[in-house]
Amino acid sequence: MKATVIGGGIIGLSSALYLQQDGWEVTVLDKGTLADNCSFGNMGYLSPSHFATLAQPGVINQGILWMFQKKSPFYVRPELSPQLIDWGLKFYRACNANHVQRSAKPMLDLLLLSKELTRSWIQTGILSFEYAEKGCINYFQTKKYEKSELENVYVGRDLGLQIDVLSKEEIHELEPDLKAEVRGAAWYKDDAHLQPNELMNQLIALLKKRGVNIITEAEVTGFQRADSTITAVQYKLTSQPEILKSETDMVVLAAGSWSSDLARLAGEKIPLMPGKGYSMTIQPAKQLLHHPCILVEAKVAMTPWQQQLRIGSTMEIGSINDKILFPRVQGILEAVGRYFPAYKQERAFQELSDEKNLKTKLREKVWYGFRPLSADGLPYIGFGKKSSNLILATGHAMLGISMGAGTGKLVAELAAGEKTSIPAKAFDPGRY
Ligand SMILES: Cc1cc2nc3c(=O)[nH]c(=O)nc-3n(C[C@H](O)[C@H](O)[C@H](O)COP(=O)(O)OP(=O)(O)OC[C@H]3O[C@@H](n4cnc5c(N)ncnc54)[C@H](O)[C@@H]3O)c2cc1C
Repeated sequence: MKATVIGGGIIGLSSALYLQQDGWEVTVLDKGTLADNCSFGNMGYLSPSHFATLAQPGVINQGILWMFQKKSPFYVRPELSPQLIDWGLKFYRACNANHVQRSAKPMLDLLLLSKELTRSWIQTGILSFEYAEKGCINYFQTKKYEKSELENVYVGRDLGLQIDVLSKEEIHELEPDLKAEVRGAAWYKDDAHLQPNELMNQLIALLKKRGVNIITEAEVTGFQRADSTITAVQYKLTSQPEILKSETDMVVLAAGSWSSDLARLAGEKIPLMPGKGYSMTIQPAKQLLHHPCILVEAKVAMTPWQQQLRIGSTMEIGSINDKILFPRVQGILEAVGRYFPAYKQERAFQELSDEKNLKTKLREKVWYGFRPLSADGLPYIGFGKKSSNLILATGHAMLGISMGAGTGKLVAELAAGEKTSIPAKAFDPGRY
């Protein structure tokens, strides 16, 4: 039996891995070169701590305030797009406490399943990317954010997560090199982190070794069908104009931020918007930071690996574009210095933050990717309404790495018609 996976990001590749393991003859089609999609330059967090959906009370008001601050981490590109309006209305409706509460358990189930499977990739020796279980520390500077962080701590503990609340003194003991200027922190001990560039490159190599047919620079343009079944996926190679086809028994649509356009070609409707984020990676002479962390007020994340430090942030909602907004990049770097003054003296960080240098080398120094944002913060994983053999797997927003392995497993179980490892109803794309 043949399966065609559209999209070679973490979701498509994880799906390909588990489908191939179940005996499917798998083809992956990707319009790019598989060197730099959103699954590469991200922060590499596996975040059970992020059980609360992005759509939650208060985010819209906060977002509106941030819209008027040039250096803030959030921006909606003003555009008269029906897709944005439709998505925005649905997002607005999902921003309520009931929704967050209802979604927390399914989100956490998928996050924990994924973490266990990702860990198993290392433990069984099939992959060997950098991976560590040191948790994630959320630092706050203000009373207002301390309050909201502690609310998350209490809900997380009720759900069974291990979370320590740290005083300033405890933080200085845990991270002695940082000289952290913070009020306190919450240490989410179930979180883990990995090096996503290594993960992606190794996953591609493993799939090829196992016989998965990965075709790059192959843009999917349509579907051939017989009644309610897709019989072939049509695509075009960058190098030649003819339309080619991948004949298939099962299709997995995992094209990240491009998924809603492709879904439409298959007669499906999923509200989805791209959420652009930036990251910068440096090689500090000495690693000052020893645990991955989030600067809560600034919404900046920092991941220390053995040789590198990655700093990332921003959520720019709007159509796909290649602009890099310099003030927002500056905002990210200034926040690091505000929370951790020690970085102002660190050479690699100083070099990165040098305004003139950064401005002239912006494209070289700043990576960006597009998070596929569902309208309610839950991913879309499940069969389409119009085709009996189309599985949608997208909308993972800021949690594609955290939920990748688990999503791949669910996709393979759905394709086999088996009972899923965790209940998957909450992720059914048919909810819209
Ligand atoms: C700054 C930043 C930090 C992040 N940090 C984290 C983190 O710490 N932890 C975490 O869990 N998540 C994180 N994320 C989110 C995570 O990176 C995404 O959720 C994830 O990469 C999405 O994976 P994907 O496979 O759905 O999409 P992608 O990785 O974007 O892959 C989609 C693929 O589909 C292909 N495609 C599109 N259209 C077509 C077509 N017509 N034909 C063929 N192929 C097509 C594209 O070329 C692309 O390769 C972060 C994101 C950003 C931007």
